[in-house]
Amino acid sequence: MTETPIEHADILIVGAGPVGLTLHLALAAGGQKSLLLDRRPREALQADPRALALSQGARELLEQIDSWPTRAATPIETIHISQKEGFGRTVIDRTDYDLPALGYVVRYRDLTGTLAANLADDALLAEAEIVDIQPGDNSVTVTLRHADTVRKIQAKLLVHAEGTPSDDPAVSVSDYAQHAVICEVTPTPGHNRRAWERFTPDGPLALLPLGDEYSIVFTLPPAKADAVMAMDDDAFIAALQTQFGSRMSFAKPGQRSRFPLALRLRETLVKGSEVWIGNSAQTLHPVSGQGFNLGIRDAWQLSEILLKNGVDRNSLAEYAASRRLDRRGSAFFTDQIVRVFSNDFGPLKLARGLGLLALDILPPARHFVAKRMIWGARAWP
Ligand SMILES: Cc1cc2nc3c(=O)[nH]c(=O)nc-3n(C[C@H](O)[C@H](O)[C@H](O)COP(=O)(O)OP(=O)(O)OC[C@H]3O[C@@H](n4cnc5c(N)ncnc54)[C@H](O)[C@@H]3O)c2cc1C
Repeated sequence: MTETPIEHADILIVGAGPVGLTLHLALAAGGQKSLLLDRRPREALQADPRALALSQGARELLEQIDSWPTRAATPIETIHISQKEGFGRTVIDRTDYDLPALGYVVRYRDLTGTLAANLADDALLAEAEIVDIQPGDNSVTVTLRHADTVRKIQAKLLVHAEGTPSDDPAVSVSDYAQHAVICEVTPTPGHNRRAWERFTPDGPLALLPLGDEYSIVFTLPPAKADAVMAMDDDAFIAALQTQFGSRMSFAKPGQRSRFPLALRLRETLVKGSEVWIGNSAQTLHPVSGQGFNLGIRDAWQLSEILLKNGVDRNSLAEYAASRRLDRRGSAFFTDQIVRVFSNDFGPLKLARGLGLLALDILPPARHFVAKRMIWGARAWP
């Protein structure tokens, strides 16, 4: 193993997921260089099974860095929200908001592929393993192993965009005792660009239109998720049909994957010359599709502040203050939906039926929820 002399970078971004990639490209668009590193090989981004519902706001930001995956994005024109074995339902329609779509569904791999295609050749160190992080007075020195070489990089700022944190005392964890089983299925009749959010006592079930398919996010307690993962295709379709009801039938399930779900909130976004963005700052339940939509706003806000104020740790305090409302609001909104809707308690079932009914007949309440999904923080008065 060879060791090389110390290298210098203004900004080092750890994690080349969609949030780290967006930050790098937004900085580059403003003339600021940064270096990305990821422990995965480049091709691994193409193996991620998730589909993401992206807001109109996220689309507009991605367009500004020429990274909107036009052909891979399926528009959502209506969202139908209901509860299993309970009354009340509401429908949110794009025509009420004078928008081409309420949101778009894109495969994680298509989004990251489009972003990565815009990287310069020397922008990303893939398969890099961090060995040590040493905070200094006005910099951070990162030691990493890359291609049989140990490298030391001293950066003015270190941005953590490495996704969901593992156990860390700086991160509060609230376990939902739910796992998301995800998969693609073919619906009959066709989806007509309608997304479904169906609340069941086991957890929410989301159906997102994606090409001719539905991308399913099937939320279940861990033991039921074990069972669903082990089912053959026919049994899986039957289980899905039981949760969804009979308005549509499903066939040809693709490969299933699962994700344990918890709310993970980092209390402090900034420490010295280090800052946390995207899922490394907050990991939310996927129920209302807020995770990446929030993460891209983190990346955008950070790039704007660094481009305006310059690359120094003072900019980070402004960044942390500017993100407080959006991240807390999104975490609270998502957490409340999961807690209120994921149980079978009679009075709550009645209350949420009334809530859904109220959303349906009270346009201001419905508009608030819809705008929260379309624009995020801009929905707040
Ligand atoms: C089932 C499911 C459905 C979802 N649906 C939606 C949705 O509809 N809409 C939405 O907005 N969001 C959704 N999300 C959330 C969304 O996937 C995340 O918010 C988003 O992927 C976060 O991006 P990120 O770049 O912060 O992290 P990640 O996508 O996790 O990327 C992190 C990157 O960092 C790298 N990395 C990790 N550790 C290290 C290390 N030590 N050194 C170097 N590199 C490292 C990883 O290899 C990876 O490439 C969903 C999540 C799940 C689980």
